[in-house]
Amino acid sequence: MREILHVQGGQCGNQIGSKFWEVICDEHGVDPTGSYTRDESSSSDLQLERINVYYNEASGGRYVPRAVLMDLEPGTMDSIRSGPYGQIFRPDNFVFGQSGAGNNWAKGHYTEGAELIDSVLDVVRKEAENCDCLQGFQVCHSLGGGTGSGMGTLLISKIREEYPDRMMMTFSVFPSPKVSDTVVEPYNATLSVHQLVENADECMVLDNEALYDICFRTLKLTTPSFGDLNHLISATMSGVTCCLRFPGQLNSDLRKLAVNLIPFPRLHFFMVGFAPLTSRGSQHYISLTVPELTQQMWDAKNMMCAADPRHGRYLTASAMFRGKMSTKEVDEQMINVQNKNSSYFVEWIPNNVKSSVCDIPPKGLKMSSTFVGNSTSIQEMFRRVSEQFTAMFRRKAFLHWYTGEGMDEMEFTEAESNMNDLVAEYQQYQDATVEEEGEYEGEEGVEENYEP
Ligand code: GDP
Repeated sequence: MREILHVQGGQCGNQIGSKFWEVICDEHGVDPTGSYTRDESSSSDLQLERINVYYNEASGGRYVPRAVLMDLEPGTMDSIRSGPYGQIFRPDNFVFGQSGAGNNWAKGHYTEGAELIDSVLDVVRKEAENCDCLQGFQVCHSLGGGTGSGMGTLLISKIREEYPDRMMMTFSVFPSPKVSDTVVEPYNATLSVHQLVENADECMVLDNEALYDICFRTLKLTTPSFGDLNHLISATMSGVTCCLRFPGQLNSDLRKLAVNLIPFPRLHFFMVGFAPLTSRGSQHYISLTVPELTQQMWDAKNMMCAADPRHGRYLTASAMFRGKMSTKEVDEQMINVQNKNSSYFVEWIPNNVKSSVCDIPPKGLKMSSTFVGNSTSIQEMFRRVSEQFTAMFRRKAFLHWYTGEGMDEMEFTEAESNMNDLVAEYQQYQDATVEEEGEYEGEEGVEENYEP
């Protein structure tokens, strides 16, 4: 058994985290009371074979999510508790305060959050001790607020300290002014990225800007709500974790996923894509072929991150197809995409695209595919946040909210340069080519050489 321990923090983290559990409970046949209920369409062997990755088995055969829920205010967790799957979570695993973080990263990381963190770690430790062989953690949070962002990254660094050899994966929601109107979000996000670069192994980027655009442009929702955005997120999270939850060969644990996707340790921020895109309630009408799924999955419009893969190159990528389909056709279609677009894949990592098929489709669909790519174009999103950060930081606007919690301006400067370094590293590998001795075949205008 290789267990994963899930933690969700803050308003956004709790909202997307609970949706994730609703979706995977449905896929594994676990009802809101935690009982396994078999339906004719699914195979119980497949549903239960790896159920222990995400669930504990309690007395009476009940399945209980290995989940810890934390927040600095009680509201979101109250509504989860009274929601459809509220009773499935272990009541002791709800850890919350009353103060709130007021969208201030410093409150989450250094003051209010720091006061609550030991209670969270106690629960984490208890869950970890119950594991046979914990493979790692997954954390759901937003980067734009105070709790998920500040306290979430505090927790990540504490976990890293205590469990240095376990994997840390995050589902991180990046802020966009299209969705939120809190001006300090670029500060909170940049301070978080600074932490995630150092303390997380793999980050699945969920960018509210892209999620909004998908809802508005593709799904034709004129005023997308968080519920609409979260529908896309939960479908993606289910797709990304599918290879961890069901039997199969490719990327079957967090470390294998990381090994395939991360050629350089800091470059662990992934673009994820999903096909077919559906709005809430509409999915039953869509049926696609393998070529259509493949085409859509690689399309910039299907990426949950506002960056265009055609502006960069893929270092690595992975695709998970779900449903009954021919593996041979999947392989052919994937090869086809790479052959037609070879300039968008770095040639110095041969065979950098992997694909797999999982028999069990998500609920309501016959087939789907999920894409996880390590694309240098993701720098576009970091640049966007960085520009918003710098515009304010240049004038030291809103800094007093952070220094008032004891933060030093220096941490802002360091976070800013760490993120700018990250952008530069992506650019460096984007420009790198396989080079012959003394001869550089870089693209025009590129100065620096890639040194292997
Ligand atoms: P926290 O409770 O202090 O962690 O703060 P929030 O989670 O509310 O963080 C605010 C950021 O999260 C903003 O960028 C919001 O746009 C975003 N956000 C809040 N709730 C949701 C949600 O349910 N879904 C998505 N996609 N984003 C959210």
